[in-house]
Order: sequence, then C-alpha cells, then structure tokens
Amino acid sequence: MVPSTRDSDILILGAGGAGLFAALHAHKAAPDASITVAVKGLLGKCGCTRMVQGGYNVALAKEDSVERHFMDTIEGGKWLPDQELAWKLVTLAIERIHELENELGCFFDRNPDGTVHQKAFAGQTFDRTVHKGDLTGIEIINRLAEQVWARRIQRLEEHRAVELVKTPAGDAIAGVLFIDMRTGEYVFVRAKAVLLATGGGPTMYRYHTPSGDKSCDGLAMALRAALALRDMEMVQFHPTGLLAGTHTRMTGTVLEEGLRGSGGFLLGGNKERFMPGYDPKAERATRDLVSRAMFSEMRKGNTTPHGGLYISMAHLGAERVRKEFKGMVERCADCGFDLAGGLVEVVPTAHYMMGGVEFAGDCTTALRGLFVAGEDSGGVHGANRLGGNGVANSTVFGAVAGDSMASWIRGQHLRQPDARAIDAAIARCERPFGTAPGDLEALREQLYETMWERVGILRDARGLTRALGELDVLDAELERTGVGDTTRAFNLSWHDWMNLRSLVQVSRAIAQAALARQESRGAHYREDFPHTGALEASTYTSIRADGTVTMKPVAFTRVRPGQSLLKHAA
Ligand SMILES: Cc1cc2nc3c(=O)[nH]c(=O)nc-3n(C[C@H](O)[C@H](O)[C@H](O)COP(=O)(O)OP(=O)(O)OC[C@H]3O[C@@H](n4cnc5c(N)ncnc54)[C@H](O)[C@@H]3O)c2cc1C
Repeated sequence: MVPSTRDSDILILGAGGAGLFAALHAHKAAPDASITVAVKGLLGKCGCTRMVQGGYNVALAKEDSVERHFMDTIEGGKWLPDQELAWKLVTLAIERIHELENELGCFFDRNPDGTVHQKAFAGQTFDRTVHKGDLTGIEIINRLAEQVWARRIQRLEEHRAVELVKTPAGDAIAGVLFIDMRTGEYVFVRAKAVLLATGGGPTMYRYHTPSGDKSCDGLAMALRAALALRDMEMVQFHPTGLLAGTHTRMTGTVLEEGLRGSGGFLLGGNKERFMPGYDPKAERATRDLVSRAMFSEMRKGNTTPHGGLYISMAHLGAERVRKEFKGMVERCADCGFDLAGGLVEVVPTAHYMMGGVEFAGDCTTALRGLFVAGEDSGGVHGANRLGGNGVANSTVFGAVAGDSMASWIRGQHLRQPDARAIDAAIARCERPFGTAPGDLEALREQLYETMWERVGILRDARGLTRALGELDVLDAELERTGVGDTTRAFNLSWHDWMNLRSLVQVSRAIAQAALARQESRGAHYREDFPHTGALEASTYTSIRADGTVTMKPVAFTRVRPGQSLLKHAA
C-alpha cells in the first residue's frame, strides 16, 4: 500500500493547548512557513485542554511571586521535577495568560476592582488559579481554535498519526504516517520539524478522566522511535470520579476537588466516614493520600453497590450545595444521583500522566527535528502535578515549541523517509484485517483489570511482575485478534485495536518504571517500599522501548531539598 504524500515545513500532532499554541507562535515567528495541524478528532472539539474545569496557575498577584509558584511546584513534585523546566513553566505562564487575555480574546473571571480573579487550588500556598467559572478549558480552546482558523494554517482533522518516520540513516525525523480516519487511507506528511503534542492520557485504567480520543499514541510512537520516557511510574489519580455503572461514559469523570475542600465527607459502603482514620486532614488531605485511603477501603470490601464509595454533601445544607456546585449537582442528577441532599457514588480515577518524552527547555528531543510539548512531555511536574499546572504546562511549552520550530526550520530541507519503515508501519496497522476477528472488549477489560489492580494506586513487586506477564499475554493476544469489518472509513473497531496497541505498550512502560522505583513518592506508592528515599539523592526513571530503566540523578540547579527560594523561608 502506498500512502499519498504531502509536505509541510512544520507539522503539529494534536490540537490541544500545546498544539494550538505551537501553531500560533510558529505562524507569528515564521509567517511564510507552511504549518499543518493534524489531529485525531476535530480541531477545537477534542483533547483534554477543552475539559479543563478548575483553571490555570500563574503568579499574577502582587503578594505572590514566581519563586513561590516554583517552590510549590517543586515541593508538590516531591523534588523530582527538572528545575529548569519548572522555572520556565512558572515564569512564562505570566506571558501566556496575558497573551490569552489580551491577544487571543479569552475572558477570565474578574474581581470587582477589575483584576483577574484567582482561586485556591489544593497543594498551593497562594490562591493563583485563573479561571472562567468552571469551564476554563472551553474558553481557552475556543479562542485558540478561532485564531488558528483565521490564519493560513493547514488542518488535517480526523487524521490519526501512527508512526514517526525517520530518514534511512535514522539521524532525524523525516515525517509522520497517518490514517485519514474518514477514508481509512494512509497519508505520509514530510516535514522539516514535527511537534508531538498528542496529550498522553492514562486511559488504560478502568476509571479515567481524559477524553476518549487519547490513547497514549504519542508516547507509544516515541518509544518505537527509540526515545526515552521519564517518570512514567507517576500517574495521578483524582479521588472523586463519578461512579454510575458500566453503561455510561460519565463513570470516571471528575467531581471537582472543591466538594471535599468545602467540607464534603467520604463514606464507605457502611455509610460511615473513614478518612479521619487515615489522615488528620481527613477529606482535605492531598489527592494521592485520599485516593490511597479510598482504594484501601475498597479492597476491604466496604463498598457501594457499584463497588466504590460515597461522597456526602447534605450536612452542608442542600441549598448551599446547589448554589455553590451547580454544575456538579446537574452532572450527578443526569446520572440519577442527588448531590445536594443524598449520596453520590465515587471512585478514584486516573487523571494525568506526569511522565513523558525527555526534552530540553526549547522543546527539542533526542531525535533531530522532533519537538515535544504538553502532556506528552515528561519532567516538568516530577512525582505530582499541581492542579492548574497542567494547562499552564501545555500552553507555555506549546508556545516555546512554536517559537523553537520556527527558527529551527531556517536552513533545513525536507528529508526523505525510510521507505521500509513506512511499509513496516502500514503492515502493523493492517494486521487486524488479516487475522480472525476476536473480542476487543474482553481484551480492554483485561487491560483495565491489570492496570487498575496491579499498576494503580497501590503497587508492590509481586503485583507489578504479574502485571508485566499479563501485558505480554495481552500483547500477543492482540496480535492474534482481528477486526471483522474490513470497511476502512470510520472503522471504529480498527481504531480501537490501534488504541489498545498503544495503551498496552505504554502500560508496560508504566509497570516497568514502577517496578524500578523502590520507594514511595508522590503519586507512586509501593506497599513493599512505603518510605521515601533521601531527597538529596533523588533520581528519576528513564525508560526505553526494550524495557531498560535507567535511574538518573535529579539536578538541583536552583534549589536543594531543605532550602527554599522564598526569602522568609530560607
Ligand atoms: C477532566 C479534566 C479536567 C482537567 N482540569 C484541569 C485544570 O483545571 N487545570 C489544569 O491545569 N489541568 C487540568 N487538566 C489537565 C489538562 O487538561 C492537560 O494537562 C492539558 O490540557 C493537556 O494539553 P495537551 O495539549 O498536552 O493535550 P490535549 O489537550 O489532550 O490535546 C491532545 C490532542 O492530541 C490529539 N491526538 C491524540 N492522539 C493523536 C494521534 N494519534 N494523532 C493525531 N492527534 C492525536 C487529540 O485529539 C487532541 O487534539 C484536566 C484534565 C481533565 C481530563
């Protein structure tokens, strides 16, 4: 099969905050360059940036500072973040929020005196989260998409990237192979510079929050391109995912943290509070602690009819709850629950991957011509991401990548791809058409079971080793499983098969990195190694496709454990 081909100076994979910011910045810095945004869904309608509820962390207030935001990020990340990347995040977030408001047309909530309203978010020492009600992501993505539409930027919508293709010598990226999902045909796009911004997304867990278009394709492609991923064991779980049964995609979606913050109680199946027995801060403890306590209760069998726990708000007064949490009350009512006056079933839900492709501050990677930004990248957040730092990360580094690619392409030529690599990638995609059809749903259930039970909130060597064995079996089973329908256009079973392939590959990287980290830190908890090692000797995991994990020392370039950049704390 020979793909149709097209050329672009800059090719951007993904249309979230990272991809769209990159497109706008690249266009501004190199107006004559051809720029293409290729995306698995529809531009402006897919990805997780659109789903951002809470908001965007940025040190704007006089009483706040970038040093304070930085220290919150480093301490929240349990001293694993790359400090230069974290510094870039907190300093450039200020520029990006001004750009979003003053150039791109976002309206964020304001105080009566006209200053931007900033609300409190867990894990931070200052109220610095900029927002538009609880629909911040829609505001950001709509304005970004409008600006992209208004410019001479090519769009390849419903185009799924399936392989990063190098030159025959393997010394640079030559382009990307896609499937046009509307026809099922293969398309190869040559490009001088490619940005990987497909947004990670831990959708291999039974309960998860990210959008359905995310299946870790970018990370799987990066592994196959021989790139190293860092911090892959660090998967963040949000404590209160809605639990409304298996028949609805609402299961797993987030009930916001403010419910616990304002005094909500978590109850076991016996309708009694259990958090005070786990942490003095009870329901107001950090996400990782609450998720762990919930998982422990669930393991004990103290569960609701759907196998989760309850959140109860009624003691705060139904009127108040209806007023303060209108959106959440409506979301619960849609699923038959009365949040204001009754009990709602909840479960911890996989929310964010701190891990991703190793990269430098200008968004370059180890592969010449390939750049990375957003949730596909690793190193900014370390062992934990602060709520509000996710969208800051994608917009800040998306813009950096756009600027970097615009200057990098000067003097570069389009490169010829390795034709054999394209053939091999097509053969891999075609595989399920040549094998007997099977039950993909059963394989997905098996993946959920393995990742949720053994590579989830509580881990140990036995479970992780068993999980790796199960993932091998799953991978082999997937190889043997075909899709019955040979129609290529919008063949969702085919895409499901490819989603599972990516998820299994990346799940293996998570399990291997988790096995290598013999301590508990941030989002990673080992029951057989419950303590955190010496912070001074902090190392991060760096994993490759063959499963080799290298522990690399964290460079404390700005501040060492026990120190602070804040004058009063030093
Ligand atoms: C429910 C929810 C609420 C959140 N709330 C907050 C919050 O309040 N504050 C905060 O800071 N963060 C929040 N986050 C996290 C935040 O959304 C992400 O950190 C951030 O938006 C990721 O941006 P991105 O551009 O990297 O990825 P995304 O915005 O997810 O975009 C990824 C893009 O890549 C495309 N894509 C995927 N695979 C392929 C492929 N194979 N080929 C082509 N395109 C592909 C997708 O279609 C999509 O367009 C939340 C996340 C969720 C799920």
